[in-house]
Amino acid sequence: MAVDTTPAARSTSLFDQVANTAHEQVVFGYDPKTGLKAIIAIHNTVLGPALGGTRMWAYQSEAEALHDVLRLSRGMTYKSAISGINLGGGKAVIIGNSATDKTEALWRRYGKLVDSLGGKYITAEDVGTSPTDIEYVAMETDFVAGKPDYLGGGGDPSPVTAYGTYLGMKAAAKEAWGTDTLTNKKIMVQGVGHVGQYLVDHLTEEGATVLVADINDNNLQAVTSKHNNITVVPVDDVYSTPMDIYAPCALGATLNDDTIPQLTCQIVAGAANNQLKDEVKHGAMLQDRSILYAPDFLINAGGVINCYAELGDYNRDRAYGYTEKIYDRTREIFHRSAAEKITTHEAALRIAQQRIDDMALVNSTL
Ligand code: NAD
Repeated sequence: MAVDTTPAARSTSLFDQVANTAHEQVVFGYDPKTGLKAIIAIHNTVLGPALGGTRMWAYQSEAEALHDVLRLSRGMTYKSAISGINLGGGKAVIIGNSATDKTEALWRRYGKLVDSLGGKYITAEDVGTSPTDIEYVAMETDFVAGKPDYLGGGGDPSPVTAYGTYLGMKAAAKEAWGTDTLTNKKIMVQGVGHVGQYLVDHLTEEGATVLVADINDNNLQAVTSKHNNITVVPVDDVYSTPMDIYAPCALGATLNDDTIPQLTCQIVAGAANNQLKDEVKHGAMLQDRSILYAPDFLINAGGVINCYAELGDYNRDRAYGYTEKIYDRTREIFHRSAAEKITTHEAALRIAQQRIDDMALVNSTL
């Protein structure tokens, strides 16, 4: 989700920041003996426990870490709400260098912190955390999702994320062209890492004309050796290349003042988080150019859905079953956007907020 840059949100007061982003609870965990400096932000638990990964990052300041965790946890609330799953939004950050500061003691101390919240927050992997770290956390608490297969978890979420992205893309095609077939459509996949490679599998299987761009030659090699008729595009030419669909699967903020005017596509649908540099401005810019934008936080929700399917006994079919709902939900967003003359991003936020408000009524005492 976009960063709230209002003066209130930029306030240096810790309590102002928490209040302005409407968080339920923010927990600080400091343990000098193990070097743990963690912040867990629980944004909203109306729909269920707050689930979100733990990011380990060498933040320049504690204020920057707090700002990040408040922003990311709010994003998780809307991602789960729009996906129709019963999870709230939360996230955690650990201040530290993920290459040099990790120890078993740090992770297990962190696991105890997560456990102390009694299940209100469920953690998972994120930037800077690995399956081994999660394994240590899981030694101290049951409130962990996204565990590796050998620990009874759902394993790599990327195939599920790619599948949801593919379905969201098809829903957008249906809206734009009246049919959801992607056969012969020229589709640019920017970033062929974990998710992008699986997305390319779906697209080639359907007979799309696939273009790919990546800064990593090994990843390009992996997709081009698997599929013969894929065209590699230089990374700097991605936006100006003629295409029907642009699928950002690398970085955030690639939809901005510089790139949007170059786009020739009719649809943007990809897995990257936070694709709109400015949610309001760039959502509107796409709409003004008649480019249909499938909101990222819905169509890339396969990862969190995979975690959801892990609560109880993990079942991959269940994960794919929930993920299939992304198609209809994406269509619903487009209809709401057209009916209310708002951007698709705004329509998705309204539907998500409506679900939270409705479920708050269900949960209130009779
Ligand atoms: P990844 O790191 O495996 O892949 C990213 C790919 O993008 C890499 O191949 C990298 O070389 C490439 N890349 C980086 N900069 C680039 C550039 N400037 N131009 C072209 N390519 C570039 O990551 P991933 O797990 O595949 O995730 C991709 C995106 O989807 C990320 O934004 C991530 O946050 C988001 N996402 C992933 C999941 C998941 O299940 N993995 C879930 C939700 C969202």
